[in-house]
Amino acid sequence: MQIVFENVNYVYGSGTSFEKHALKDINLKINKGEFIGLIGHTGSGKSTLIQHMNGLMKATSGKIYFNGDNIYHKNYNMRQLRNKVGLVFQYPEHQLFETTVFKDVYFGPKNLGLEKLEADLRTYEALKMVGIGEDLLDASPFELSGGQKRRVAIAGILAMKPDVLILDEPTAGLDPRGRDEILDQIAKLHKESKITVILVTHSMEDAAKYVDRLLVMNQGRLAMDEKPDKVFSRYKELEEIHLAAPQVTYVMNALKEKGFSLNPDVTTVSEA
Ligand code: ADP
Repeated sequence: MQIVFENVNYVYGSGTSFEKHALKDINLKINKGEFIGLIGHTGSGKSTLIQHMNGLMKATSGKIYFNGDNIYHKNYNMRQLRNKVGLVFQYPEHQLFETTVFKDVYFGPKNLGLEKLEADLRTYEALKMVGIGEDLLDASPFELSGGQKRRVAIAGILAMKPDVLILDEPTAGLDPRGRDEILDQIAKLHKESKITVILVTHSMEDAAKYVDRLLVMNQGRLAMDEKPDKVFSRYKELEEIHLAAPQVTYVMNALKEKGFSLNPDVTTVSEA
């Protein structure tokens, strides 16, 4: 699995008074098995960027390749791309609609035209992957806690067996317990299945704790693309683009736990 962006630009409302150049010359390569964080101030282009990865939005100019194939080629199978690159929007639980947890997750694989046995299997597996136990299979999704609902919604995407899982602020609006449940489960899933994960977050703490590589967006540009310790050591630039880490000490500890070396400059900041 590989996704490549070559000089990708996207302009909203081209030629109107609302024109907005939301992606500017993005060059990017995402490889199999990576756990990538995507951070950036509100309006920096994160959500526009991820919607290009599975073909939901089409670049105004530039090229995108999935496994070496140009996704804008006229014979390209976009539908398949959308199944391979699973995109979990913010508040995905708003899309839950079936009467039971099982049926909700089953909906996707069923519509792929799979044999019933295969669709059943995928449903069980996906629910297991997000840590939803069998006791909840027949529950109504609406009886679940916020964190559980969200995990069921993520299972619905996993049941499509994507190669890449993109999560847009998966912890938004959850209490601390729900947040930890989701992120720990995603980290476990990444470790066990080697699925590529792209996590959009505004939490520097989560970025430090979970990801191996950080993409930083600023005003439509990819401002940084480095390991988290390298990104955090450029804290002055981060501040300039309104991304100062609110809890530097926490970030440093999380990085240390992951075996990253620390930049002494940054430790000074935690005491400032
Ligand atoms: P982020 O996800 O980082 O908050 P977005 O990708 O949503 O950023 O937005 C990038 C820029 O594009 C922002 O300036 C935003 O106002 C603008 N934008 C987003 N969606 C639209 C739209 N549908 N029409 C016009 N401008 C938009």
